[in-house]
Amino acid sequence: MIAYCCRTLVTMEGSPIDNGAFVVDGARFVRTGSASDILRTHSGEVIDLGEVVVLPGLINAHCHLDYTLMRGAMLPSRSFSRWVSRINALKRSLTDNDYLLATQLGFEELRKSGVTTVLNIVATPQVFPLLPPARIRAWNFLELIDVRPRPWIEEHAFGSWLFFSDQFKQLGGVGLSPHAPYTASAKLYEVALECARAFDMPITTHAAESSEEYAMFAKASGELYDFLNKLGRPMTDCGSTTPLRHLIENRLINSDCIVAHLNELDDRDLEILGGTEWRNLQVVHCPKSHRFLHHKRFPLEELRERGLNISLGTDSLASNDSLDMFSEMRMAKKTYPSLTSLDVLEMATTRPARALKREGDLGKITPGCLADSIAIPFKGPVNDVFDSVIQNRGTIKWMMVNGKVLT
Ligand SMILES: [Zn+2]
Repeated sequence: MIAYCCRTLVTMEGSPIDNGAFVVDGARFVRTGSASDILRTHSGEVIDLGEVVVLPGLINAHCHLDYTLMRGAMLPSRSFSRWVSRINALKRSLTDNDYLLATQLGFEELRKSGVTTVLNIVATPQVFPLLPPARIRAWNFLELIDVRPRPWIEEHAFGSWLFFSDQFKQLGGVGLSPHAPYTASAKLYEVALECARAFDMPITTHAAESSEEYAMFAKASGELYDFLNKLGRPMTDCGSTTPLRHLIENRLINSDCIVAHLNELDDRDLEILGGTEWRNLQVVHCPKSHRFLHHKRFPLEELRERGLNISLGTDSLASNDSLDMFSEMRMAKKTYPSLTSLDVLEMATTRPARALKREGDLGKITPGCLADSIAIPFKGPVNDVFDSVIQNRGTIKWMMVNGKVLT
């Protein structure tokens, strides 16, 4: 057992502790408190981390690491369908080696910016077995799309089989990600739900992201409707309801599904989300990607008032310039003045842990939780430690994942 001391300890359960300490045994925290209390009875090794604030490792709740090489390749766009077709063209120009490199670089970038857990959507499962074990925890979600039959279906099926058979070398888990109601059929969502139930896997999806997606489902019109119609997508599910109600009313998602975006909701959608059945839907907001794509204002206050759990993510480098969660937290705070610094820090720690149903394992520095934590320079004392934390620009002085210090 090793005791670590620090200038300030942010546990995300109760107030920050000045001159704090925590004890790690194997992969988990076993004690937290003031250094004087802990050291009085601790007989093992003691490491003083110095003038730092230690906090739980950050959790990025929505990311696509296989697009990491797309940084700077896309211009901010007001046309969602043009952005989608540009991504598709770029995807076709990349090889499996590119995707392998992209995923490795993405994991490294996350680690350097203090992320210890990522919810990563995987469009290229065939490269996964070639990856060295990631140094951080990852829940990898296999992306499912059937907007038109894939000519390389056998290769993809083989890749998917490898993806699931090779999962055990990674810290974390696997899940499924039917991409979005405009790219995944009702049948595909149903199959995903059935598999997720059978193998106890989480599901994540995108929904109600753009005004074009809203127009496609609600009015059977708009650029995305025309684009997908030309691709040969059957459009009989369009013209009657909103993207969210398409998923909910057809029972294509569970009430605890992790849903990214939800920018385009009408009053009835909000009413449904406020009801007892759907209040547990897990929402992910990606502040910088949201700005990049010029979406309508995300209804953060309306969702919080109704008790929904909202986490933060970066989305991919096809719509962002970094995978830095500190930068996402600052953008969220700036955009929504109702949020305190503690609120936004929760959206990158305890809230995504709840979305993953891993509240007892992740997102806090408390006895029993997995020992994932980071340290950033800190002189203290200040009025608002949480604000000092989110103002951090890139310097992670120390990091621990699963009880092991990463160097
Ligand atoms: Zn996404």
